[in-house]
Amino acid sequence: MTTTASTTASAQGTEEIQDAGYVDVLIVGAGVSGIGAAYHLRDQFPDRTFVILDAQDNRGGTWWTHRYPGVRSDSDLFTYGYRFKPWRGPSIAAGEEILAYLDEVIKDYDLDQYIRYQHRVTAASWSAEDRRWTVEVTRDDTGQRLRFTTGFLWMCQGYYNHAKPYRPQWEGLDRFQGLVVHPQRWPEDLDLAGKRVVVIGSGATAATLIPAIAGKAQHVTMLQRSPTYFYAPPTTHELAVMLGPLDLPDEWMHEIMRRQYMTQYHWLARTSFEAPDDLHAFLIESMRPLLPEGFDIDKHFTPRYRPWQQRIAVVPDGDLFAALREGKASIVTDTIETFTEHGIKVSSGEEIPADIVVTATGFNMSVLGDVAFTVDGEPVDFTERVTWRGIMINDVPNMAYVFGYFRHSWTLRVDLVGDLVGRLLATMQDKGATMVVPTLRPQDRDMQLRPFSDPENFNAGYVMRSQHILFKQGDREPWTHMHEHEQEREILPEADLDDGTLVYS
Ligand SMILES: Cc1cc2nc3c(=O)[nH]c(=O)nc-3n(C[C@H](O)[C@H](O)[C@H](O)COP(=O)(O)OP(=O)(O)OC[C@H]3O[C@@H](n4cnc5c(N)ncnc54)[C@H](O)[C@@H]3O)c2cc1C
Repeated sequence: MTTTASTTASAQGTEEIQDAGYVDVLIVGAGVSGIGAAYHLRDQFPDRTFVILDAQDNRGGTWWTHRYPGVRSDSDLFTYGYRFKPWRGPSIAAGEEILAYLDEVIKDYDLDQYIRYQHRVTAASWSAEDRRWTVEVTRDDTGQRLRFTTGFLWMCQGYYNHAKPYRPQWEGLDRFQGLVVHPQRWPEDLDLAGKRVVVIGSGATAATLIPAIAGKAQHVTMLQRSPTYFYAPPTTHELAVMLGPLDLPDEWMHEIMRRQYMTQYHWLARTSFEAPDDLHAFLIESMRPLLPEGFDIDKHFTPRYRPWQQRIAVVPDGDLFAALREGKASIVTDTIETFTEHGIKVSSGEEIPADIVVTATGFNMSVLGDVAFTVDGEPVDFTERVTWRGIMINDVPNMAYVFGYFRHSWTLRVDLVGDLVGRLLATMQDKGATMVVPTLRPQDRDMQLRPFSDPENFNAGYVMRSQHILFKQGDREPWTHMHEHEQEREILPEADLDDGTLVYS
């Protein structure tokens, strides 16, 4: 990395912006995607200079932000782990174990030296004349402002705002005398002993938090507006148990279990489209024996959407159901009418007493890290743009982003995108090009634009709330995204990078 210590006056003329130098590739985000991107870059282009910037004060992204009790993956770690780094633990892992795995990756590939924490990227401006991005950064610790320049921007910023969790407006919230906590901001010293806790939400966060706190609090109530699909696989896959005594090399075990889980999840995704009623029945019936006698499964656990139209929440070994059976937790399915001084009143008239309310109500999505993009002086309005294969954006040069799967492990896509970006950089090198721009061909200009996510396909609340700020997809390749991993693992490695939609110069 070229570092120069010169400072210049900012646009406002008052603050100093320090010139932080030029790198060949600038990665935004040190979560699963950014660490994976850095590995792929180093592996394929060991001579390129790069830096990873993250607004937070530590690595891990999601797994650093979410440190509430019980936080864990709901994907298996053989596919949530990278292709190149064997996972050695049980299939489902705690947040801490995922962070430890990422630490190993950082150490194995000597990535620490490239990560700059508390560096929030606020703006990125492309200049075709200079063939580079100018990236403005504010240090969250010192307030200092920095300016990096780079030939290629790799956005690995995830999909939601880490600083501002989503919390709906509720009537009467200000008169509630208890404590309100969001899982994105869990207080380390929160004492639950003897407390009545209400967890608002029905997704993966509520499902993992509740069993973890059920033994500590006096009682936990899950308050949901509508039910979610749950699936209760064993924490360790039976195949892994069978293979255990063979003492296989880690790489073999990783690969065998990856294939096992991919096959299983491909079947699940396929069945969700081809035979949704069968999958619905399978999920509901597999829950039934785990629930207390006479439990109203129709009211509390029977969603009104197709399985996988929203994420299926995994409860390893059915621990959520155990908490219900043991009477440590209960479920109310109803809408909130108002908060009261001592709890929450729902539409049925019932008042649920609460000392602590946990708002497991999800995220605010953010578009490409809320970075203000300009291309040759023109602000980029992403709502008018179209994705190129879920990796680049039309008319935004030299920029790739990572967006993982909803129905499969996010990281499966990190590796696929890593390969494709590698091929893209190699193609630029072969052509002697310093600029690549996804460009609508004449025949694409009047194509029908579709929302970021077709609600028929995937309609989780946080995505639906944010469609109006997100970029779109077209009605044909390569202007589409959100394919299933089963198809995309064939499509992306074969994708033609010279089909006229990528313009090199
Ligand atoms: C509790 C929880 C459990 C989950 N479990 C699973 C699971 O089991 N399987 C699965 O596939 N997915 C799961 N997910 C989805 C999860 O977010 C992804 O799997 C994955 O962690 C995303 O990684 P990422 O690196 O792309 O983004 P993130 O983890 O969101 O990390 C992005 C990083 O970029 C930084 N950043 C963003 N904008 C800027 C900016 N402007 N400047 C500087 N830095 C910036 C952020 O600070 C953050 O550290 C889960 C999500 C949550 C919240």
